[in-house]
Amino acid sequence: MTLYKHPSNPGPSQNPFPMQQVSQGYSMPGQLGYHNPVLAKAPMPPGPVLYNAVPPASPYQSAPGPHMPVRPPVGAPPPMQPGQTIPASQNSVPPPTASTNSYYPDAQNPSPSSWNYGVRPPMGMGTPPPGNHVTSSPSPVPNPPSQGFSAAPTLTPNTATTPGPPLPPSSYNSWTQPGSVPPMNAMSPQTPYQPGRPPYGPPPTAGPPPGMRPTPPPTGPHGTATPPPPMAPQNEGVRQTHTPTNSQALNSSEAGGRIITDPPSSQPGPVGRPIGHGYPSLPPGYQNMAQPPNVPPMHPTQPYSSGPAAYPQPPMGAAQLSPSMAAMSMQAQTPDSLRVVNLLQERNLLPPTPYQPPTPCLPQDLQRVNCSPDVFCSTLTSIPQTQALLNKAKLPLGLLLHPFKDLSQLPVVTSSTIVRCRSCRTYINPFVSFLDQRRWKCNLCYRVNDVPEEFMYNPVSRSYGEPHKRPEVQNATIEFIAPSEYMLRPPQPAVYLFVLDVSHNAMQTGYVDVVCQSLLENLNSLPGDTRTKIGFITFDSTIHFYNLQEGLSQPQMLIVSDIEDIFLPTPDSLLVNFNESKELVGDLLKSLPQMFSKTMETQSALGPALQAAFKLLSPTGGRVSVFQSQLPTMGVGALKSREDPNQRASAKEIQHLSPATDFYKKLALDCSGQQVAVDLFMLTSQYCDLASLGCISRYSAGTVYYYPSYHNEHNPAQTERFQKDLKRYLTRKIGFEAVMRIRCTKGLSIHTFHGNFFVRSTDLLSLPNVNPDAGFAVQMSIEENLVDMQVVSFQAALLYTSSKGERRIRVHTMCLPVVNSLSDIFAGADVQAITGLLASMAVDRSVTASLSDARDAMTNAVIDSLSSYRTSVLTIQQPGLLSPNCLRLFPLYILALLKQRAFRTGTSTRLDDRVFAMCQLKSQPLAYLMLMIHPALYRLDDLTDEGALNVNDRTIPQPRVLQLSVEKLSREGAFLMDAGSVIYLWVGKSCNPQFLTQVLGVPNYPALPQNLTQLPELDTAESTRTRAFVGWLREQRPFYPLLHVIKDESQLKANFMQNMVEDRTESALSYYEFLLHVQQQISK
Ligand SMILES: [Zn+2]
Repeated sequence: MTLYKHPSNPGPSQNPFPMQQVSQGYSMPGQLGYHNPVLAKAPMPPGPVLYNAVPPASPYQSAPGPHMPVRPPVGAPPPMQPGQTIPASQNSVPPPTASTNSYYPDAQNPSPSSWNYGVRPPMGMGTPPPGNHVTSSPSPVPNPPSQGFSAAPTLTPNTATTPGPPLPPSSYNSWTQPGSVPPMNAMSPQTPYQPGRPPYGPPPTAGPPPGMRPTPPPTGPHGTATPPPPMAPQNEGVRQTHTPTNSQALNSSEAGGRIITDPPSSQPGPVGRPIGHGYPSLPPGYQNMAQPPNVPPMHPTQPYSSGPAAYPQPPMGAAQLSPSMAAMSMQAQTPDSLRVVNLLQERNLLPPTPYQPPTPCLPQDLQRVNCSPDVFCSTLTSIPQTQALLNKAKLPLGLLLHPFKDLSQLPVVTSSTIVRCRSCRTYINPFVSFLDQRRWKCNLCYRVNDVPEEFMYNPVSRSYGEPHKRPEVQNATIEFIAPSEYMLRPPQPAVYLFVLDVSHNAMQTGYVDVVCQSLLENLNSLPGDTRTKIGFITFDSTIHFYNLQEGLSQPQMLIVSDIEDIFLPTPDSLLVNFNESKELVGDLLKSLPQMFSKTMETQSALGPALQAAFKLLSPTGGRVSVFQSQLPTMGVGALKSREDPNQRASAKEIQHLSPATDFYKKLALDCSGQQVAVDLFMLTSQYCDLASLGCISRYSAGTVYYYPSYHNEHNPAQTERFQKDLKRYLTRKIGFEAVMRIRCTKGLSIHTFHGNFFVRSTDLLSLPNVNPDAGFAVQMSIEENLVDMQVVSFQAALLYTSSKGERRIRVHTMCLPVVNSLSDIFAGADVQAITGLLASMAVDRSVTASLSDARDAMTNAVIDSLSSYRTSVLTIQQPGLLSPNCLRLFPLYILALLKQRAFRTGTSTRLDDRVFAMCQLKSQPLAYLMLMIHPALYRLDDLTDEGALNVNDRTIPQPRVLQLSVEKLSREGAFLMDAGSVIYLWVGKSCNPQFLTQVLGVPNYPALPQNLTQLPELDTAESTRTRAFVGWLREQRPFYPLLHVIKDESQLKANFMQNMVEDRTESALSYYEFLLHVQQQISK
């Protein structure tokens, strides 16, 4: 390793590296603000081209397509949302009584405790903005006071169309629709890191660089009489990837795809149909006709028939759903979900097997093609017809998404024409209706669109004239490989930058060895292609860069000690092509752990290191992985400890849940603008202010990982978890420069988002990176009555660049019935989705109001909904605490949340532990979230094969899920608790000796080791059975939950016992007491 040291900036003479141009910027393309050319849609040519219906939009709104004017036609005044004219006196909330601190708008009492409590400026609700679009303010404006970034953006009419300064943050993790937020000062669009120094200089050119010019849109044959596409080989246009849940397999499938270009128009159609043959007009009323029963179905290869009635109407689409059908299916399902349960009497309400979400009451043919609830679900699977009805139900309405989930089966379409609604840009989906073969009606805005000629050919069946059989219309989850019009510059390469804390503190933990070892093992599995770039930065009180340029005999280290004025010493050789410099990268990873092993430097300049990372990645975008072991002490972003351990248990209110500085949030927004996401790995033994540091990931769409008490030797369990997490992290699928837009049927409105992202415009989330383990939630309201609708639809479109450099769009569409009775709303309630959404909302409220406020609001959610059920749904009054069967777990889940690390009081909870739990509640997919909130408990010492599953010739025992109560435990048994990211196996003192010998491989209880994390592979039936069950649990999730075998004297026993949420603790009610409290409040 060659070492060159810079004692100060600009570099001293002993540095042989070209240090010129230091004062002239870093050959960065300037601060282009938040405009990303990739995201902007190419301008459209004039003429009646399919995609030309919407005028070129501002770059901020243009992806995945031009902004969707969801409801009002352009120019119409933005509709106000219910609950938006609420005075901002949210902080003074009365004690928990029904309907006071509720999340729901109350008709009689338009109180502050309604939905839009997100991060809102503490000022009166002013007039709504003139436009529904967020655009940037062209000139810098002063920073708002103290809570700079919690401000809403300046809202101006939709005029800005040029890449201007950064879009002011319209908010971030919790975001309220601009319509509800008064105009106010936005942040300064340029964030000068060094006062008095021009921030990076102007962009090199006025527009995008030459290589980033818009690709001319295809002058396709849309809408004109063109010949049908040629016969294509089977499945050429559509690939079904059948792989196990395995991100690598999915990655490799990306490479195999062949992009089908537009078929040459001169080739004949597959069925010899005359070119340009028009479709005959249809008889009136055709669109609602079901297929006449006596008409034989059209054979795929049958020549096109011109008889109007012969067109086989797809058995789906809103237009086909008759009211009677809807009513019938509605009633068929109500009994069990609405069965009255007296919670005080029925002791065990847990389903014996894992929870199944309710099935929406749709006709079978619609439900058959509906989106999987694992990917996209709603808190209410029956949507109320009006906001008034929703208010009356006192249940939250929102969507939960796991948009980039690893899927074992994902249809991928490579087509030159992606069919979308000309008006609202919705992607064609299973819930549109075909008026005839040539026209389809959008299920979101009801516009009638033409079916483009290319869409008439079905690459799956290789037949012509059956647009409704195309994969786009048969799959609610589908991925498109985007044609060139979805990009203005080549998709970015996969870029990975690793930033490592190498201060004394960090080196003591030994984590650098694990990171380097893990990287060496997994480097070749990093998603990417020949363009993949990689780089490394280490830091303590100075910043160390590594020249890894191909051709060097060894890596060169360059130290920049002037952390006040960070610059890149050799900008071109710090981020290198991975394939070309693989050896140097390997050399560096092998030597890094030793290089700093003797360091005595205790300071940490994390802020400057992050600035350096941002500068390095700004030209390309990419992923920054930061490893940090302590509170940053030097340079920008330095922090002081804010936690007083003595106050932990006694403090009435939890302080310091919000960041101490704006620095990390500002930098994250800059990163977001340059398509850079920052993942933060905290490996600490002491307080490190996650509330402040976490902002770097939250607003850049990164992830926070947290390993308290990390030490390679002293805490092997934590080390193993870190290793497993790293492996998953390094090898899982990744999407770059992504945006996600959620659309919904006219009349519904999205108003608050939860997750890690930046909100670019009203419904567009900016995600510099997207990963398969990220979840999102949105709150919704009903703006216009849905009286004429049988069903409504929701569509999430995620546009991203794959690690192989393909621009792809993953689209999920969900269809739900509309109902007009309270009982139907209750019947369709998804208690887990409701709990998940409330958890996110409560995190926001903890930060914007207070923890006790959030706790009250959660309790009131239970009180209000059960109260509404009792007074408005139940016809026969009876004593007890009554719940519909589908909500029977609601009080239990809320009690579990109240006892969760994020929200609990009374016990000593470290502030960082609490903040991390809050991060997880907001950014995890629902499935993982629920195990974290309410773990699953099983008895393991008496496993049998009764009722076992058979998976790939393996017998998987299915023990019953037990209540989380000590009364379910016994000293004679062994109990497994699945808490999502960790699995505990508690072994009782008098445990069945058979279990000890046959499963754990020890002769007796005292012989059981303290830190056992593996089940020995014994050749016994009991061992096989137990390992099969644990293995099966692990297979249910993409990461690897560690197993901890716990004895009575184990330290981890406290963690295990804290999850016994049904039991009373010093400071928290037992489940039964909680039920009594709820009942009291209801009967008040
Ligand atoms: Zn539409």
